[in-house]
This record gives sequence, C-alpha cells and structure tokens, in this order.
Amino acid sequence: MKEVTRLIHTGLNAEVAQSVVNVPVHRASTIAYADLHSYLTRFDDNNRYKSVTYGATGSTNSRALAEAIAVLEGGFDTVVTSTGLSACTLAIGALLSQGDHVLITDSVYGPTRSYCDKVLKRYGVEVEYFDPATGGGIKDLCKPNTRLVFVESPGSLTFEMQDIAAIAEAAHSCGALVAMDNTWATPLYFKPLAHGVDISIQAGTKYISGHSDLVIGLITSATEELHMRIADHAMMQGDIASPDDCYLALRGLRTLSLRVPRHFESAVVVASWLENHNDVKRVLYPPLQSDPGHELWRRDVGGGASLFGVVLEKDNLTSISRLVDGLELFKIGSSWGGFESLVAANLTPIARDVVPWTECSVLLRFHIGLEDPDDLIDDLEAGLKRL
Ligand SMILES: *Cc1c(COP(=O)(O)O)cnc(C)c1O
Repeated sequence: MKEVTRLIHTGLNAEVAQSVVNVPVHRASTIAYADLHSYLTRFDDNNRYKSVTYGATGSTNSRALAEAIAVLEGGFDTVVTSTGLSACTLAIGALLSQGDHVLITDSVYGPTRSYCDKVLKRYGVEVEYFDPATGGGIKDLCKPNTRLVFVESPGSLTFEMQDIAAIAEAAHSCGALVAMDNTWATPLYFKPLAHGVDISIQAGTKYISGHSDLVIGLITSATEELHMRIADHAMMQGDIASPDDCYLALRGLRTLSLRVPRHFESAVVVASWLENHNDVKRVLYPPLQSDPGHELWRRDVGGGASLFGVVLEKDNLTSISRLVDGLELFKIGSSWGGFESLVAANLTPIARDVVPWTECSVLLRFHIGLEDPDDLIDDLEAGLKRL
C-alpha cells in the first residue's frame, strides 16, 4: 500500500468499524470485566501494553491513534502523551539515570532545554549541549557514561539542519541511543527511525492535529524493549491524553497528506517573496536555496513544514511591532501547524550554551496557514511598509 492509503486505513478498530467509520470517543476511568479471573489477568501476556485496563493508562482512542502513528513512523509502537513537551521529557526521563551523560542539540525546543537544566541536572544527570552542525563529530563528545543523544532538525527558532544519519551512526558506535523531536517535518517527510534514530517524537499538537484545538504528544520506538521502557515510565508518571483529544488528533491525521503539502507550497512562495524584499535581511528556512541547511534538507526531507524565521534589516521592537500589530491575516501567538497563519517574535539572546545566536535582537517566526499565499503576501507587503 502507498503511504497515503495506509494513513486512511490504519488505527481503525475492526469491531467498531462495522457500525461507524471512526472509533467513537470512549470516555472511561473504569473498565468493567466479565468475571474476577479476567480482572486478575488483565495485565498478562503480550497485550499488557495494548489492552485498555483503566482510564489513567490509555483508552480505545489512544490505542487507535498509537497504532496509526506507529505505522506511519515505521516503529514498533507509539506512546500517546498529554503534550508535545511531555513526549520529549518522558522519553528523556525514561532512558536516563543518576550519573548518566546526555548530549542535547543546542537548538533544542526551549521548554525541553528547561527540563534538562532544571530537572535532569537536579536528578544527577550530566547534561551537555552540542553544536547542531556537529554531525558525526558527536563521537568526540561521547563519554563512557553517554546514554542518549537528543536531536531536533531543523532546530526550534533558528532552523539549523542536522545530519541525523551521521549523528545516529556515531552515537551508536559509542553505545548511546538517539531520540529525535521531528515535529517540523512530520513523519510524512522525514522518518527518523529509517535514518537510525531509536525514538521519534512528535508534538501532535502541530500538523497532526492541524486545527489549533488540542495539545498531544507521540513517542514512537524502533524496538519493543524501548517501547516498554517508555510506556512503563509514562504509566508511572500518569501521563496520558484524553480520549477526546486522541479522537481529534486521529481525525487530523487523515488529512495530513493533503494539508502539509499545501502549507509547504504556500510557505515556499511567501518565504521566497520575503527573502527578495529589501527590508528583509534573511529568511531562516531550509527549503530555500540560500539556507545553509538546504543541501541536508534536500537530501533528507524534500518537503515539510511552513514554519520559518525572519530577520529584518530594521531590527528594533518599535518598528517591528508596527509591522506585526497591523497584520490582518496573521494572528499573533504561540504554537503552529493549524489552518491559520501565525506570527510570533522572540527577543534575543536565545538560550544557548555552545553556539550563541546573535544575528538580531528581534527574531520573527511565521507559520503559513491554508490561506491563499497572494493574500498573505499583500498583508506582509503592507506590514513591511509600516516598518
Ligand atoms: C510545540 C513543540 C513542542 C511542544 O508541544 P506542546 O504540545 O506545545 O507541548 C515540542 N517540540 C517542538 C519542536 C515544538 O514545536
């Protein structure tokens, strides 16, 4: 089957599908059993992580979503968590113990970095950041106690591409696992597990849900052993997503293969227009030929997100506020991946340990929605005049 066909035909509960197409929302704390024997043996056999036993350990809806994501990622199975952030922190937390060393990309999503700095260090884990351009050089940073390398490509805010296959090969040669936050490309455009990554993480909040109406996280492991470790950890933390959110995320997934290419096409049009504007210094978007990560993007991804950064020539907050506040089609806010265009700004310095990022003082971030790109360009043209 082609991937877009599989996207439609997985995560359907066969029993339920005889009466309705979608798995209905099953709200439950208690699951009722036919007799005491079935209750006492509910965790037995291979179904331990698949059957639905109690509301706090997953639902029919989280199982259906997990099944579909695992197929898309080409993994053993998927753990569904309450947020994209908890997917990152649960995967990291499940794999590390006191005295371990972890290598984290310096371009990592900010709240993941805060977890490493404020929680992991307190638990006695040695946290070290690395230059996103390191690639196979990760080998030189490995220590005897390095257990995990955490990557994200392109990186949050600054969009540096990473050579994932080279990092995975180097990490494995040192006996370390590799986890990747792959939210930007989605598993449609980059399949981390096929490039040697052991654990692939998605903030399903973004493109998978696609409608800015929920938060959810997805952790897919290459092997049963890793999946069990992470599933156990999530269960002990009591971290799950609600049946309603799982239902909506799975509904979003059905149209992922239509929405993301459209987002991407429009983003290339808008980003190229911006790049050629006199008031724009640089657009941080690997699909553009001018981007330093373009070759890696072309080799590994070839499509993907409509999220990019913009550095303006007039780098002061007063002028930039005039631009942003007058935009009619771009909402101002966090997150991305929904149908609507968004703009956000980050004031530098951006949190970095190894490679400071000092290109400007106000870094804009645009998410291109499903509007006609010509209308978005008109809106931005008027905005740039207000600068
Ligand atoms: C948004 C985001 C997350 C966190 O997802 P939430 O559901 O908002 O917690 C993690 N990683 C990346 C790259 C993101 O963009």
